[in-house]
Amino acid sequence: MQPKQIESLNAGYRDTLGIVTDDGSRKVIYPRKPKGRFYNMRTVFSLALLAFMFGMPIVKISGHPFMLFNIIDRKFILFGMVFGPHDYFILALGFIAFTVSIILFTAVFGRIFCGWACPQTVFLEMVFRRIEFWIEGDYLRQKMLNIAPWTGKKIFKKLLKWSIFFSLSILIANTFLAWIVGTDELLKIITEPVSLHMGGFTAMLIFSGVFYFIFAWFREYACIYVCPYGRLQGVLMDKNTTVIAYDYIRGEPRGKINKSEERDLGDCIDCKECVAVCPTGIDIRNGTQLECVNCTACIDACDVVMDKINRPRGLVRFASENNIKDSTKFRLTGRVIGYSVVLALITFVLIALIAMRMPIDVTILRAPGMIYQEQPDNKISNLYSMKLTNKTFDEVFVNIKLENIDGEIKIIGNEIKLQPNDVNETKFLVIMDKSKLTAMNTPLEVGIYRGGTKFGIFMTTFLGPPQQK
Ligand code: SF4
Ligand code: SF4
Repeated sequence: MQPKQIESLNAGYRDTLGIVTDDGSRKVIYPRKPKGRFYNMRTVFSLALLAFMFGMPIVKISGHPFMLFNIIDRKFILFGMVFGPHDYFILALGFIAFTVSIILFTAVFGRIFCGWACPQTVFLEMVFRRIEFWIEGDYLRQKMLNIAPWTGKKIFKKLLKWSIFFSLSILIANTFLAWIVGTDELLKIITEPVSLHMGGFTAMLIFSGVFYFIFAWFREYACIYVCPYGRLQGVLMDKNTTVIAYDYIRGEPRGKINKSEERDLGDCIDCKECVAVCPTGIDIRNGTQLECVNCTACIDACDVVMDKINRPRGLVRFASENNIKDSTKFRLTGRVIGYSVVLALITFVLIALIAMRMPIDVTILRAPGMIYQEQPDNKISNLYSMKLTNKTFDEVFVNIKLENIDGEIKIIGNEIKLQPNDVNETKFLVIMDKSKLTAMNTPLEVGIYRGGTKFGIFMTTFLGPPQQK
């Protein structure tokens, strides 16, 4: 059966949203508790993600966070390496690589990130929804509880659920803050008087409120109405994109099963189990829809049905529109190859930049607007300014030496001492015998030493008087 015929079976589904009633109000979704192999895999994967989300801010190396995204102070720590304002080109490239990988991943595998790795789905489906199932029961019990009068039992269940939800929202908000300000600062916000941390305390309250609102009420609206990534699906996916798909070739014409008659219909018995488990309230048999977050609950539900009626699993499965239409398997398209090449190039440049990144950034410039200065004993000098950026957590003492020519370096001011993650600007004079100069511009190699160990040579020039030919 061709898609056109499918459309005629479900005429009108593209004109409505599964989460909106005919009068425009919200249609509350009560998805059935999912179970099956994909749900089990998602559970394991979600546990790993939750451990990462909650555990990473606690991990420290030599007393410093392993990961930190301090957008307020523009300080980022990735895998123990500090990135500051001076590293924005690396961060920008990292962001581009991340965006391209998302585009590539979406072009090939659709919205699988949403169902499996997005924090919104992980928290909602694997934490909050499970607590709801535990307190209020499966979908039918939840529905009945919501329309039941406010008895003591209902009040108890609702209060228990809301207080657990709010406590979890506070925990998530604190974790979120820990990723931004670090656990030490977070601990101060929690333990010290509120008046000392009004900003942090307000942020914690706002985040807690927002998370509670999203997970207790807003839920699938975030994916369907708000998420910009969800909006982009239409332009990122094509007919070769692997999505959660209903095999209409196999399934249609659908129809109830009748054990007394020989079946001349397709494999879909129109049981609507796939619809009952859908957290966004759609019928996957209508084709790929914007609301689908690729959570795979409908695959599990349909596989159970197929097992029961002795038909092969996979009536609903991971497949592209073309895979279903032509009964083919996944294949690489020109677009996928193109995206992969771009992504590989960006990643290569990113890794090279990180590998070549020096712990101390050095810029040496001859003082602008100045030529050479005459000094006693037939010597001349040039004035230089040097900017040093310490990208480490350590205090660093720096020495400088001339590497390619005899001469003296005189630092103006005190020794060069760099504070952790700090920028230092120093001026110094290079003094040389006139007799050593053979040209107006003499190339200089300045060696930079950290604790007696040379970690780099930086080029500049020494300006002298015009030479006699
Ligand atoms: S669960 Fe499978 S058989 Fe039942 S309605 Fe959905 S696609 Fe058809
Ligand atoms: S259609 Fe299937 S995969 Fe998509 S959101 Fe619904 S249950 Fe999840």
